[in-house]
Amino acid sequence: MTRPALIAGNWKMNGGLDDLSWADDLVEAFGADGPGVDAALCPPATLIAPFAERLPSWIALGAQDCSQHGEGAHTGDLAAGMLAALGCRYVIVGHSERRSNHGEGDDLVRAKAEAAIAAGLVPIVCIGETLAERETGQAEDVVIAQLARSVPADASAKSLVIAYEPVWAIGTGKTATPEDAQAMHAQIRRAFPGEGRDELRILYGGSVKPENAADLFAMDDIDGALVGGASLEAEDFAGVLRAVR
Ligand code: PEP
Repeated sequence: MTRPALIAGNWKMNGGLDDLSWADDLVEAFGADGPGVDAALCPPATLIAPFAERLPSWIALGAQDCSQHGEGAHTGDLAAGMLAALGCRYVIVGHSERRSNHGEGDDLVRAKAEAAIAAGLVPIVCIGETLAERETGQAEDVVIAQLARSVPADASAKSLVIAYEPVWAIGTGKTATPEDAQAMHAQIRRAFPGEGRDELRILYGGSVKPENAADLFAMDDIDGALVGGASLEAEDFAGVLRAVR
C-alpha cells in the first residue's frame, strides 16, 4: 500500500463488559507489538473506558459519533473533548446509520468533524451512495457532493480519514467489486478539497471480511477498511488485519 493502512472496527450498538476479552484475543494473535498495521476499535460509548484499560497500545480507540458542540445543554450527546479525555484517537462521523436513523446531513457532519479536529481527534468522515442512487447512475455525483459538504473547509489529509461506504453494502453481505471501489476512491482523492490529497487515507466499508479484504486492499487508492460485522469476532478482525500487505 502507498499510504499506511488503517483498519478500524465499528461495533455499532453491540457488545458488553463480557466482550472485553476481544482485546486479549488480538494480543494472542499478534503479540504486544501488533501486526505493523494501524488498527482502531470504535466500541459503543459504554465500552470506551473499559477498553482503554485493556487494549494493547497498537490498537487505537475510537468513538462512533460526537456532538458538534463543545459542552452544554445537549442531553445524551458526547463532546469530542470528552472522548479525547477517555483516550480516543478517532471518531466516526456521518455514518450512514446516523444519516438515515437520525437525519444527519452534510452540514451537521462537517460541524462534527470540525469539533473532532478541534478536540485533537481524527474524524473518520463517512460518505456513500444508496442502491437507488447507484442504479440510476448518480453514485459519483452524490458521493463527491457529500465529500465537498462534509469535509471542513480547512481540513488537511493529515487531520482526517475518509470512509467510502456504499449504503447498499453495509451489513448486507454485498461488497462493491474492488474495481468499482477503486474507481470511487480515485474520484474521492481527486476531489478532496483539502491539502495533501496524496496522503489522504480513504477506507472502504461495506461487508469487508477476511475473505474479500486482500482483493480490496490490492487497489491503489484503498487504504484500509471500516469494518462492522466482521470486527465483532477477534478472529475475523485479525483476518482483515492479516490481509494488509
Ligand atoms: C460499518 O458499520 O461501517 C460497516 C461497513 O458495516 P459492515 O462491515 O457490517 O458492512
